[in-house]
Amino acid sequence: MPLTANGPRNRATRTFMTMLGGLLPIALGIVILHWQAERSLQQSTVRTAQEAVRQFDLMLDNTALAAQALLPLAGQPCDDAAQLALREQVTRRPFVRATTLSWQKNIYCSSLFGGDHESSVNPADYVDGALWLMTGNPVTPDTALLVHRLVDGDKAAFASIDGYHLTNALRLISRYADLTLQVGPHWLGADGKVHDVPVPGFAVAHQHLASARYPYSVDAGMPAGEVWRYMRERYPASFSLVVFFGVLAGVLVRGLQKRSSTPTHELQRALEANEFVPYFQPVVRGDTREWAGCEVLMRWRHPKEGLVRPDLFIPLAEHCGLIVPMTRALLRQTAAQLAPYAARISPGFHIGVNITARHCLDLELVDDCREFLAAFPAGQVTLVLELTERELIEPTAITRQLFDALHQLGVMIALDDFGTGHSSLAYLRNFNVDYLKIDQSFVAMIGADVLSSHILDSIIELSSKLDLGIVAEGVETAEQCEYLAAHGVDFLQGYLFGRPLPGDEFIQTLISH
Ligand code: C2E
Ligand code: CA
Ligand code: CA
Repeated sequence: MPLTANGPRNRATRTFMTMLGGLLPIALGIVILHWQAERSLQQSTVRTAQEAVRQFDLMLDNTALAAQALLPLAGQPCDDAAQLALREQVTRRPFVRATTLSWQKNIYCSSLFGGDHESSVNPADYVDGALWLMTGNPVTPDTALLVHRLVDGDKAAFASIDGYHLTNALRLISRYADLTLQVGPHWLGADGKVHDVPVPGFAVAHQHLASARYPYSVDAGMPAGEVWRYMRERYPASFSLVVFFGVLAGVLVRGLQKRSSTPTHELQRALEANEFVPYFQPVVRGDTREWAGCEVLMRWRHPKEGLVRPDLFIPLAEHCGLIVPMTRALLRQTAAQLAPYAARISPGFHIGVNITARHCLDLELVDDCREFLAAFPAGQVTLVLELTERELIEPTAITRQLFDALHQLGVMIALDDFGTGHSSLAYLRNFNVDYLKIDQSFVAMIGADVLSSHILDSIIELSSKLDLGIVAEGVETAEQCEYLAAHGVDFLQGYLFGRPLPGDEFIQTLISH
Protein backbone atom coordinates (compact mmCIF):
# COMPACT_ATOMS: atom_id res chain seq x y z
CA MET A 1 0.00 0.00 0.00
CA PRO A 2 1.66 3.27 -1.02
CA LEU A 3 2.00 5.88 1.68
CA THR A 4 0.26 9.17 1.19
CA ALA A 5 0.44 12.50 2.95
CA ASN A 6 -3.25 13.18 2.29
CA GLY A 7 -5.60 13.04 5.18
CA PRO A 8 -9.02 11.46 4.81
CA ARG A 9 -11.04 13.38 2.28
CA ASN A 10 -14.74 13.13 2.06
CA ARG A 11 -16.74 12.22 -1.01
CA ALA A 12 -18.11 15.75 -1.47
CA THR A 13 -14.61 17.27 -1.68
CA ARG A 14 -13.50 14.67 -4.23
CA THR A 15 -16.60 15.20 -6.34
CA PHE A 16 -16.04 18.94 -6.14
CA MET A 17 -12.41 18.57 -7.25
CA THR A 18 -13.45 16.35 -10.18
CA MET A 19 -16.10 18.83 -11.27
CA LEU A 20 -13.60 21.67 -10.94
CA GLY A 21 -10.99 19.75 -12.93
CA GLY A 22 -13.50 19.14 -15.72
CA LEU A 23 -15.33 22.46 -15.73
CA LEU A 24 -12.26 24.68 -15.52
CA PRO A 25 -10.90 23.78 -19.00
CA ILE A 26 -14.45 23.99 -20.42
CA ALA A 27 -14.99 27.42 -18.88
CA LEU A 28 -11.57 28.57 -20.08
CA GLY A 29 -12.24 27.23 -23.57
CA ILE A 30 -15.61 28.97 -23.72
CA VAL A 31 -14.11 32.25 -22.52
CA ILE A 32 -11.49 32.04 -25.30
CA LEU A 33 -14.09 31.15 -27.95
CA HIS A 34 -16.35 33.96 -26.70
CA TRP A 35 -13.49 36.45 -26.89
CA GLN A 36 -12.62 35.24 -30.39
CA ALA A 37 -16.27 35.48 -31.54
CA GLU A 38 -16.54 38.98 -30.07
CA ARG A 39 -13.44 40.06 -31.96
CA SER A 40 -14.75 38.61 -35.24
CA LEU A 41 -18.08 40.40 -34.79
CA GLN A 42 -16.27 43.66 -33.93
CA GLN A 43 -14.25 43.40 -37.13
CA SER A 44 -17.39 42.59 -39.08
CA THR A 45 -19.31 45.67 -37.80
CA VAL A 46 -16.27 47.91 -38.42
CA ARG A 47 -16.25 46.73 -42.05
CA THR A 48 -20.04 47.15 -42.27
CA ALA A 49 -19.93 50.75 -41.00
CA GLN A 50 -17.07 51.62 -43.37
CA GLU A 51 -18.91 50.12 -46.32
CA ALA A 52 -22.13 51.97 -45.42
CA VAL A 53 -20.30 55.32 -45.27
CA ARG A 54 -18.67 54.57 -48.61
CA GLN A 55 -22.07 53.83 -50.17
CA PHE A 56 -23.86 56.87 -48.72
CA ASP A 57 -20.97 59.18 -49.66
CA LEU A 58 -21.28 57.84 -53.22
CA MET A 59 -25.03 58.58 -53.30
CA LEU A 60 -24.50 62.06 -51.89
CA ASP A 61 -21.77 62.72 -54.47
CA ASN A 62 -24.50 62.33 -57.11
CA THR A 63 -26.84 64.77 -55.35
CA ALA A 64 -23.93 67.20 -54.92
CA LEU A 65 -23.19 67.09 -58.67
CA ALA A 66 -26.88 67.60 -59.50
CA ALA A 67 -27.17 70.56 -57.11
CA GLN A 68 -23.95 72.13 -58.48
CA ALA A 69 -25.27 71.84 -62.04
CA LEU A 70 -28.60 73.47 -61.07
CA LEU A 71 -27.39 76.23 -58.74
CA PRO A 72 -26.75 78.81 -61.55
CA LEU A 73 -30.46 78.48 -62.53
CA ALA A 74 -31.70 79.52 -59.06
CA GLY A 75 -33.36 82.95 -59.23
CA GLN A 76 -34.04 82.45 -62.98
CA PRO A 77 -37.66 82.05 -64.09
CA CYS A 78 -39.15 78.53 -63.77
CA ASP A 79 -39.63 78.24 -67.54
CA ASP A 80 -39.50 75.16 -69.76
CA ALA A 81 -35.69 75.29 -70.00
CA ALA A 82 -35.30 75.38 -66.20
CA GLN A 83 -37.79 72.53 -65.75
CA LEU A 84 -36.03 70.50 -68.41
CA ALA A 85 -32.72 71.05 -66.63
CA LEU A 86 -34.27 69.92 -63.31
CA ARG A 87 -35.71 66.72 -64.87
CA GLU A 88 -32.50 66.04 -66.75
CA GLN A 89 -30.59 65.80 -63.46
CA VAL A 90 -33.23 63.37 -62.08
CA THR A 91 -32.94 61.10 -65.08
CA ARG A 92 -29.18 61.36 -65.58
CA ARG A 93 -27.96 61.01 -62.01
CA PRO A 94 -28.25 57.69 -60.22
CA PHE A 95 -30.12 57.77 -56.85
CA VAL A 96 -31.47 61.31 -57.47
CA ARG A 97 -35.25 61.30 -57.16
CA ALA A 98 -36.21 65.00 -57.24
CA THR A 99 -34.56 68.38 -57.78
CA THR A 100 -35.77 71.90 -56.85
CA LEU A 101 -34.65 75.53 -56.98
CA SER A 102 -35.15 78.23 -54.38
CA TRP A 103 -34.67 81.98 -54.27
CA GLN A 104 -34.52 83.85 -50.99
CA LYS A 105 -35.56 80.75 -48.97
CA ASN A 106 -38.53 80.13 -51.17
CA ILE A 107 -38.84 77.02 -53.35
CA TYR A 108 -40.41 78.09 -56.63
CA CYS A 109 -39.46 75.47 -59.23
CA SER A 110 -39.45 71.62 -58.94
CA SER A 111 -38.90 68.51 -61.05
CA LEU A 112 -42.10 67.25 -59.36
CA PHE A 113 -45.56 68.84 -59.78
CA GLY A 114 -44.79 69.71 -63.44
CA GLY A 115 -42.74 72.83 -62.65
CA ASP A 116 -44.14 75.72 -60.58
CA HIS A 117 -44.42 75.00 -56.91
CA GLU A 118 -44.28 77.43 -53.98
CA SER A 119 -43.09 76.58 -50.47
CA SER A 120 -40.76 78.19 -47.95
CA VAL A 121 -37.42 76.81 -46.76
CA ASN A 122 -36.35 76.69 -43.11
CA PRO A 123 -32.51 76.43 -43.14
CA ALA A 124 -32.61 75.14 -39.53
CA ASP A 125 -34.12 71.87 -40.85
CA TYR A 126 -30.83 71.14 -42.60
CA VAL A 127 -27.85 69.79 -40.65
CA ASP A 128 -24.93 72.15 -41.37
CA GLY A 129 -27.39 73.83 -43.77
CA ALA A 130 -26.86 70.92 -46.17
CA LEU A 131 -28.68 67.65 -45.27
CA TRP A 132 -32.22 66.87 -44.13
CA LEU A 133 -33.55 63.36 -43.52
CA MET A 134 -37.28 63.72 -44.17
CA THR A 135 -40.15 61.34 -43.40
CA GLY A 136 -41.58 62.00 -46.85
CA ASN A 137 -42.66 64.74 -49.23
CA PRO A 138 -46.11 65.91 -50.38
CA VAL A 139 -46.01 63.47 -53.33
CA THR A 140 -44.94 60.34 -51.34
CA PRO A 141 -45.57 61.25 -47.68
CA ASP A 142 -44.60 57.74 -46.34
CA THR A 143 -41.33 57.29 -48.19
CA ALA A 144 -38.24 58.65 -46.48
CA LEU A 145 -35.89 60.84 -48.44
CA LEU A 146 -32.61 62.59 -47.89
CA VAL A 147 -32.40 66.14 -49.23
CA HIS A 148 -29.10 67.73 -50.17
CA ARG A 149 -29.10 71.56 -50.24
CA LEU A 150 -26.48 73.73 -51.94
CA VAL A 151 -26.64 77.47 -51.13
CA ASP A 152 -25.00 80.52 -52.67
CA GLY A 153 -26.37 83.76 -51.23
CA ASP A 154 -30.08 83.96 -52.12
CA LYS A 155 -29.69 81.09 -54.55
CA ALA A 156 -30.14 77.42 -53.55
CA ALA A 157 -30.50 74.15 -55.41
CA PHE A 158 -31.82 70.86 -53.88
CA ALA A 159 -31.40 67.24 -54.91
CA SER A 160 -32.94 64.38 -52.91
CA ILE A 161 -32.21 60.65 -52.65
CA ASP A 162 -35.07 58.20 -52.50
CA GLY A 163 -35.44 56.42 -49.14
CA TYR A 164 -35.74 53.17 -51.11
CA HIS A 165 -32.04 53.34 -52.03
CA LEU A 166 -31.08 54.22 -48.47
CA THR A 167 -32.99 51.34 -46.83
CA ASN A 168 -31.77 48.95 -49.50
CA ALA A 169 -28.20 49.87 -48.61
CA LEU A 170 -28.93 49.54 -44.86
CA ARG A 171 -30.41 46.09 -45.43
CA LEU A 172 -27.95 44.64 -47.93
CA ILE A 173 -24.53 45.81 -46.79
CA SER A 174 -24.33 43.14 -44.08
CA ARG A 175 -26.25 39.92 -43.52
CA TYR A 176 -25.52 39.87 -39.78
CA ALA A 177 -25.09 43.44 -38.56
CA ASP A 178 -27.94 45.93 -38.11
CA LEU A 179 -27.34 49.39 -39.57
CA THR A 180 -28.85 52.85 -39.05
CA LEU A 181 -28.23 56.14 -40.84
CA GLN A 182 -28.28 59.24 -38.66
CA VAL A 183 -28.63 62.81 -39.92
CA GLY A 184 -28.87 65.34 -37.09
CA PRO A 185 -31.75 64.41 -34.79
CA HIS A 186 -33.29 61.89 -37.21
CA TRP A 187 -32.29 58.37 -38.03
CA LEU A 188 -33.37 55.80 -40.55
CA GLY A 189 -33.51 52.06 -39.85
CA ALA A 190 -33.60 49.09 -42.21
CA ASP A 191 -37.41 49.10 -41.87
CA GLY A 192 -37.46 52.34 -43.95
CA LYS A 193 -38.90 54.45 -41.11
CA VAL A 194 -37.44 57.76 -39.97
CA HIS A 195 -37.30 58.21 -36.19
CA ASP A 196 -36.53 61.33 -34.19
CA VAL A 197 -35.69 59.60 -30.87
CA PRO A 198 -32.01 58.90 -30.04
CA VAL A 199 -30.44 55.96 -31.92
CA PRO A 200 -30.79 52.79 -29.78
CA GLY A 201 -27.39 51.37 -28.71
CA PHE A 202 -26.52 47.91 -30.02
CA ALA A 203 -25.71 45.32 -27.33
CA VAL A 204 -22.95 43.62 -29.30
CA ALA A 205 -20.04 45.11 -31.32
CA HIS A 206 -21.52 48.61 -31.59
CA GLN A 207 -19.67 50.85 -34.11
CA HIS A 208 -20.35 54.53 -34.73
CA LEU A 209 -18.77 56.08 -37.80
CA ALA A 210 -19.23 59.62 -39.12
CA SER A 211 -18.67 60.54 -42.76
CA ALA A 212 -15.66 62.78 -43.31
CA ARG A 213 -17.38 64.57 -46.20
CA TYR A 214 -21.06 64.98 -45.37
CA PRO A 215 -22.81 65.72 -42.04
CA TYR A 216 -24.21 62.26 -41.25
CA SER A 217 -23.08 59.13 -39.41
CA VAL A 218 -23.90 55.44 -39.33
CA ASP A 219 -24.27 52.97 -36.45
CA ALA A 220 -23.65 49.27 -36.90
CA GLY A 221 -24.09 46.53 -34.31
CA MET A 222 -25.86 43.36 -33.27
CA PRO A 223 -28.56 42.41 -30.78
CA ALA A 224 -27.87 40.72 -27.43
CA GLY A 225 -27.10 36.99 -27.66
CA GLU A 226 -25.49 37.34 -31.06
CA VAL A 227 -22.06 36.25 -29.76
CA TRP A 228 -23.50 32.91 -28.53
CA ARG A 229 -25.45 32.40 -31.75
CA TYR A 230 -22.31 33.09 -33.74
CA MET A 231 -20.30 30.68 -31.56
CA ARG A 232 -22.88 27.91 -31.99
CA GLU A 233 -22.98 28.42 -35.73
CA ARG A 234 -19.25 28.89 -36.40
CA TYR A 235 -17.43 26.86 -33.75
CA PRO A 236 -19.26 23.55 -33.38
CA ALA A 237 -15.99 21.62 -33.76
CA SER A 238 -14.12 23.78 -31.24
CA PHE A 239 -17.04 23.41 -28.85
CA SER A 240 -16.93 19.63 -29.05
CA LEU A 241 -13.17 19.73 -28.56
CA VAL A 242 -13.49 21.94 -25.46
CA VAL A 243 -16.11 19.61 -23.95
CA PHE A 244 -13.96 16.59 -24.83
CA PHE A 245 -10.90 18.08 -23.08
CA GLY A 246 -13.06 19.06 -20.10
CA VAL A 247 -14.33 15.51 -19.68
CA LEU A 248 -10.79 14.18 -20.17
CA ALA A 249 -9.45 16.56 -17.49
CA GLY A 250 -12.28 15.53 -15.14
CA VAL A 251 -11.50 11.84 -15.63
CA LEU A 252 -7.79 12.56 -15.12
CA VAL A 253 -8.41 14.47 -11.89
CA ARG A 254 -10.67 11.66 -10.71
CA GLY A 255 -8.01 9.09 -11.51
CA LEU A 256 -5.26 11.07 -9.78
CA GLN A 257 -7.43 11.52 -6.72
CA LYS A 258 -8.20 7.84 -6.60
CA ARG A 259 -4.54 6.98 -6.87
CA SER A 260 -3.46 9.46 -4.22
CA SER A 261 -6.22 8.89 -1.72
CA THR A 262 -7.06 5.22 -2.02
CA PRO A 263 -5.03 3.84 0.93
CA THR A 264 -6.13 6.48 3.45
CA HIS A 265 -9.62 6.44 2.05
CA GLU A 266 -9.65 2.68 2.49
CA LEU A 267 -8.47 3.01 6.12
CA GLN A 268 -11.15 5.64 6.77
CA ARG A 269 -13.79 3.35 5.27
CA ALA A 270 -12.56 0.41 7.35
CA LEU A 271 -12.64 2.53 10.51
CA GLU A 272 -16.24 3.56 9.83
CA ALA A 273 -17.13 -0.09 9.13
CA ASN A 274 -15.55 -1.18 12.47
CA GLU A 275 -13.15 -3.49 10.67
CA PHE A 276 -10.30 -2.87 13.16
CA VAL A 277 -10.73 -5.30 16.02
CA PRO A 278 -8.75 -6.11 19.16
CA TYR A 279 -6.94 -9.40 19.64
CA PHE A 280 -5.65 -10.25 23.09
CA GLN A 281 -2.43 -12.01 24.04
CA PRO A 282 -1.94 -13.08 27.67
CA VAL A 283 0.94 -11.79 29.79
CA VAL A 284 1.90 -14.12 32.65
CA ARG A 285 3.82 -13.71 35.91
CA GLY A 286 7.40 -14.91 35.69
CA ASP A 287 7.28 -16.75 38.99
CA THR A 288 3.79 -18.34 39.04
CA ARG A 289 2.84 -18.25 35.29
CA GLU A 290 -0.55 -16.86 36.32
CA TRP A 291 -2.30 -14.60 33.85
CA ALA A 292 -1.51 -11.13 35.05
CA GLY A 293 -2.73 -9.19 32.07
CA CYS A 294 -2.85 -9.01 28.28
CA GLU A 295 -1.62 -6.98 25.36
CA VAL A 296 -4.24 -5.61 22.96
CA LEU A 297 -3.09 -6.14 19.36
CA MET A 298 -4.97 -4.64 16.48
CA ARG A 299 -6.18 -6.71 13.53
CA TRP A 300 -7.89 -5.56 10.36
CA ARG A 301 -10.78 -7.84 9.48
CA HIS A 302 -10.74 -6.95 5.80
CA PRO A 303 -13.86 -8.04 3.83
CA LYS A 304 -11.72 -9.29 0.91
CA GLU A 305 -8.17 -9.76 2.27
CA GLY A 306 -9.15 -11.55 5.48
CA LEU A 307 -7.22 -10.85 8.67
CA VAL A 308 -4.51 -8.24 8.00
CA ARG A 309 -1.40 -8.01 10.23
CA PRO A 310 -0.90 -4.66 11.98
CA ASP A 311 2.61 -4.02 10.69
CA LEU A 312 1.02 -3.78 7.17
CA PHE A 313 -1.34 -0.90 8.01
CA ILE A 314 -0.21 0.69 11.31
CA PRO A 315 2.62 2.71 9.64
CA LEU A 316 0.15 4.13 7.11
CA ALA A 317 -2.44 4.85 9.81
CA GLU A 318 0.24 6.65 11.77
CA HIS A 319 1.39 8.58 8.71
CA CYS A 320 -2.07 9.91 7.89
CA GLY A 321 -3.08 10.52 11.49
CA LEU A 322 -5.88 7.94 11.51
CA ILE A 323 -4.05 5.95 14.20
CA VAL A 324 -5.56 8.26 16.86
CA PRO A 325 -9.25 7.53 16.05
CA MET A 326 -8.34 3.89 15.34
CA THR A 327 -6.78 3.47 18.81
CA ARG A 328 -9.79 5.22 20.34
CA ALA A 329 -12.10 2.72 18.62
CA LEU A 330 -9.83 -0.14 19.79
CA LEU A 331 -9.99 1.08 23.41
CA ARG A 332 -13.78 1.32 23.22
CA GLN A 333 -14.14 -2.20 21.79
CA THR A 334 -11.72 -3.58 24.39
CA ALA A 335 -13.69 -1.97 27.20
CA ALA A 336 -16.99 -3.19 25.74
CA GLN A 337 -15.69 -6.79 25.47
CA LEU A 338 -13.81 -7.04 28.79
CA ALA A 339 -15.88 -4.87 31.15
CA PRO A 340 -18.78 -7.40 31.46
CA TYR A 341 -16.22 -9.89 32.86
CA ALA A 342 -14.46 -7.43 35.14
CA ALA A 343 -15.61 -9.27 38.26
CA ARG A 344 -14.06 -12.53 37.00
CA ILE A 345 -10.54 -11.16 36.59
CA SER A 346 -8.05 -10.53 39.37
CA PRO A 347 -7.81 -6.88 40.53
CA GLY A 348 -5.09 -4.84 38.87
CA PHE A 349 -5.22 -6.93 35.65
CA HIS A 350 -2.84 -5.22 33.21
CA ILE A 351 -4.18 -4.24 29.80
CA GLY A 352 -1.41 -3.16 27.44
CA VAL A 353 -2.29 -0.92 24.51
CA ASN A 354 0.19 0.24 21.87
CA ILE A 355 0.46 3.96 21.19
CA THR A 356 2.61 5.93 18.74
CA ALA A 357 4.36 9.28 18.51
CA ARG A 358 1.20 10.69 16.89
CA HIS A 359 -0.65 10.27 20.18
CA CYS A 360 1.88 12.49 21.92
CA LEU A 361 1.13 15.67 19.94
CA ASP A 362 -1.85 16.69 22.07
CA LEU A 363 -3.82 15.69 25.16
CA GLU A 364 -6.64 13.75 23.41
CA LEU A 365 -5.21 10.47 24.68
CA VAL A 366 -5.94 11.47 28.30
CA ASP A 367 -9.69 11.63 27.59
CA ASP A 368 -9.59 8.32 25.70
CA CYS A 369 -7.85 6.62 28.65
CA ARG A 370 -10.22 8.21 31.17
CA GLU A 371 -13.20 6.92 29.18
CA PHE A 372 -11.62 3.46 29.01
CA LEU A 373 -10.97 3.24 32.77
CA ALA A 374 -14.47 4.52 33.57
CA ALA A 375 -15.89 1.34 31.99
CA PHE A 376 -14.37 -0.79 34.81
CA PRO A 377 -14.81 -0.74 38.58
CA ALA A 378 -12.07 1.43 40.15
CA GLY A 379 -8.77 -0.42 40.53
CA GLN A 380 -10.01 -3.51 38.64
CA VAL A 381 -7.68 -2.98 35.67
CA THR A 382 -4.38 -1.19 35.09
CA LEU A 383 -4.00 0.42 31.71
CA VAL A 384 -0.43 0.22 30.35
CA LEU A 385 0.45 2.28 27.29
CA GLU A 386 3.23 0.76 25.24
CA LEU A 387 5.44 3.23 23.43
CA THR A 388 8.06 1.71 21.12
CA GLU A 389 11.71 2.50 21.61
CA ARG A 390 12.17 2.37 17.80
CA GLU A 391 10.90 5.91 17.39
CA LEU A 392 11.83 8.11 20.30
CA ILE A 393 9.60 11.09 20.95
CA GLU A 394 10.86 14.57 21.74
CA PRO A 395 10.21 15.78 25.28
CA THR A 396 8.16 19.00 24.97
CA ALA A 397 5.83 20.95 27.22
CA ILE A 398 2.90 19.02 25.72
CA THR A 399 4.42 15.55 26.22
CA ARG A 400 5.33 16.43 29.82
CA GLN A 401 1.76 17.55 30.42
CA LEU A 402 0.41 14.44 28.70
CA PHE A 403 2.48 11.95 30.68
CA ASP A 404 1.82 13.76 33.97
CA ALA A 405 -1.94 13.64 33.29
CA LEU A 406 -1.73 9.94 32.35
CA HIS A 407 0.12 9.09 35.56
CA GLN A 408 -2.43 10.99 37.58
CA LEU A 409 -5.09 8.76 36.02
CA GLY A 410 -3.06 5.75 37.16
CA VAL A 411 -2.05 4.83 33.61
CA MET A 412 1.37 3.17 33.32
CA ILE A 413 3.96 3.53 30.58
CA ALA A 414 5.95 0.65 29.09
CA LEU A 415 8.88 1.17 26.76
CA ASP A 416 8.25 -1.42 24.02
CA ASP A 417 10.87 -3.24 21.93
CA PHE A 418 13.47 -2.19 24.48
CA GLY A 419 17.05 -2.78 23.33
CA THR A 420 16.36 -1.90 19.69
CA GLY A 421 16.56 1.89 20.17
CA HIS A 422 18.79 4.36 21.92
CA SER A 423 16.82 5.66 24.84
CA SER A 424 18.85 7.17 27.66
CA LEU A 425 18.30 7.30 31.39
CA ALA A 426 17.07 10.86 30.96
CA TYR A 427 14.52 9.65 28.43
CA LEU A 428 13.21 6.98 30.83
CA ARG A 429 12.87 9.61 33.52
CA ASN A 430 11.32 12.23 31.28
CA PHE A 431 8.43 9.99 30.39
CA ASN A 432 8.14 8.33 33.80
CA VAL A 433 8.49 4.86 32.30
CA ASP A 434 7.16 2.06 34.55
CA TYR A 435 8.02 -1.03 32.50
CA LEU A 436 10.59 -2.13 29.96
CA LYS A 437 9.47 -4.69 27.40
CA ILE A 438 12.53 -6.61 26.24
CA ASP A 439 12.41 -7.03 22.49
CA GLN A 440 11.75 -10.57 21.29
CA SER A 441 15.01 -10.66 19.31
CA PHE A 442 16.97 -10.87 22.61
CA VAL A 443 14.68 -13.56 23.99
CA ALA A 444 15.10 -15.59 20.81
CA MET A 445 18.89 -15.61 21.37
CA ILE A 446 18.69 -17.27 24.77
CA GLY A 447 20.92 -20.33 24.68
CA ALA A 448 22.10 -19.51 21.15
CA ASP A 449 24.07 -16.28 21.30
CA VAL A 450 26.34 -15.42 24.19
CA LEU A 451 26.51 -11.69 23.37
CA SER A 452 22.71 -11.29 23.22
CA SER A 453 22.42 -13.14 26.51
CA HIS A 454 24.85 -10.64 28.01
CA ILE A 455 22.77 -7.73 26.71
CA LEU A 456 19.65 -9.40 28.08
CA ASP A 457 21.31 -9.84 31.48
CA SER A 458 22.38 -6.17 31.47
CA ILE A 459 18.84 -5.01 30.64
CA ILE A 460 17.39 -7.09 33.45
CA GLU A 461 20.03 -5.78 35.85
CA LEU A 462 19.49 -2.19 34.74
CA SER A 463 15.73 -2.39 35.16
CA SER A 464 15.99 -3.73 38.68
CA LYS A 465 18.50 -0.97 39.56
CA LEU A 466 16.12 1.66 38.14
CA ASP A 467 13.24 -0.02 39.90
CA LEU A 468 11.40 -0.61 36.63
CA GLY A 469 9.11 -3.58 35.98
CA ILE A 470 10.29 -5.88 33.21
CA VAL A 471 8.38 -7.86 30.59
CA ALA A 472 9.96 -10.31 28.16
CA GLU A 473 8.25 -10.67 24.77
CA GLY A 474 8.30 -13.53 22.30
CA VAL A 475 8.76 -16.36 24.78
CA GLU A 476 8.31 -19.49 22.73
CA THR A 477 10.21 -22.21 24.50
CA ALA A 478 10.34 -23.66 27.99
CA GLU A 479 14.10 -23.00 28.04
CA GLN A 480 13.57 -19.28 27.43
CA CYS A 481 10.86 -19.27 30.09
CA GLU A 482 13.11 -20.96 32.64
CA TYR A 483 16.01 -18.64 31.91
CA LEU A 484 13.93 -15.47 32.23
CA ALA A 485 12.16 -16.63 35.38
CA ALA A 486 15.50 -17.59 36.92
CA HIS A 487 16.80 -14.09 36.16
CA GLY A 488 13.86 -12.51 37.97
CA VAL A 489 11.89 -11.19 34.96
CA ASP A 490 8.51 -10.08 36.34
CA PHE A 491 6.29 -10.81 33.32
CA LEU A 492 6.46 -13.06 30.29
CA GLN A 493 4.59 -12.92 27.00
CA GLY A 494 4.76 -15.25 24.04
CA TYR A 495 3.29 -18.13 22.09
CA LEU A 496 4.34 -20.48 24.86
CA PHE A 497 1.52 -19.06 26.98
CA GLY A 498 -0.92 -18.10 24.30
CA ARG A 499 -1.21 -16.57 20.84
CA PRO A 500 -3.16 -13.37 20.26
CA LEU A 501 -6.84 -14.39 20.33
CA PRO A 502 -10.11 -12.69 19.36
CA GLY A 503 -12.10 -11.29 22.32
CA ASP A 504 -14.56 -14.15 22.91
CA GLU A 505 -11.89 -16.89 22.77
CA PHE A 506 -9.58 -14.90 25.01
CA ILE A 507 -12.36 -14.40 27.59
CA GLN A 508 -13.23 -18.12 27.57
CA THR A 509 -9.59 -19.05 28.22
CA LEU A 510 -9.22 -16.31 30.82
CA ILE A 511 -12.27 -17.52 32.75
CA SER A 512 -11.12 -21.16 32.62
CA HIS A 513 -7.80 -20.03 34.14
P1 C2E B 1 4.51 -5.38 19.40
O1 C2E B 1 3.85 -4.32 20.17
O2 C2E B 1 5.95 -5.66 19.71
O3 C2E B 1 3.63 -6.66 19.59
C1 C2E B 1 4.16 -7.93 19.78
C2 C2E B 1 4.12 -8.69 18.50
O4 C2E B 1 4.78 -9.92 18.64
C3 C2E B 1 2.71 -9.03 18.07
O5 C2E B 1 2.68 -9.03 16.68
C4 C2E B 1 2.56 -10.44 18.57
O6 C2E B 1 1.59 -11.18 17.88
C5 C2E B 1 3.92 -10.98 18.33
N1 C2E B 1 4.23 -12.09 19.24
C6 C2E B 1 3.76 -12.34 20.47
N2 C2E B 1 4.31 -13.45 20.98
C7 C2E B 1 5.16 -13.93 20.05
C8 C2E B 1 6.02 -15.04 19.99
O7 C2E B 1 6.13 -15.86 20.90
N3 C2E B 1 6.76 -15.20 18.87
C9 C2E B 1 6.67 -14.33 17.83
N4 C2E B 1 7.41 -14.53 16.76
N5 C2E B 1 5.85 -13.25 17.85
C10 C2E B 1 5.12 -13.06 18.96
P2 C2E B 1 1.54 -8.37 15.90
O8 C2E B 1 0.25 -8.56 16.64
O9 C2E B 1 1.65 -8.80 14.50
O10 C2E B 1 1.87 -6.85 16.02
C11 C2E B 1 2.98 -6.33 15.40
C12 C2E B 1 3.22 -4.92 15.82
O11 C2E B 1 2.19 -4.06 15.35
C13 C2E B 1 3.19 -4.74 17.30
O12 C2E B 1 4.43 -5.09 17.84
C14 C2E B 1 2.96 -3.27 17.43
O13 C2E B 1 4.13 -2.55 17.24
C15 C2E B 1 2.04 -3.01 16.25
N6 C2E B 1 0.69 -2.98 16.77
C16 C2E B 1 -0.20 -3.96 16.98
N7 C2E B 1 -1.37 -3.48 17.42
C17 C2E B 1 -1.21 -2.14 17.50
C18 C2E B 1 -2.05 -1.07 17.93
O14 C2E B 1 -3.20 -1.25 18.34
N8 C2E B 1 -1.53 0.18 17.86
C19 C2E B 1 -0.25 0.42 17.45
N9 C2E B 1 0.17 1.67 17.43
N10 C2E B 1 0.55 -0.55 17.06
C20 C2E B 1 0.08 -1.84 17.10
CA1 CA C 1 3.51 -3.78 22.17
CA1 CA D 1 7.43 -5.37 21.12
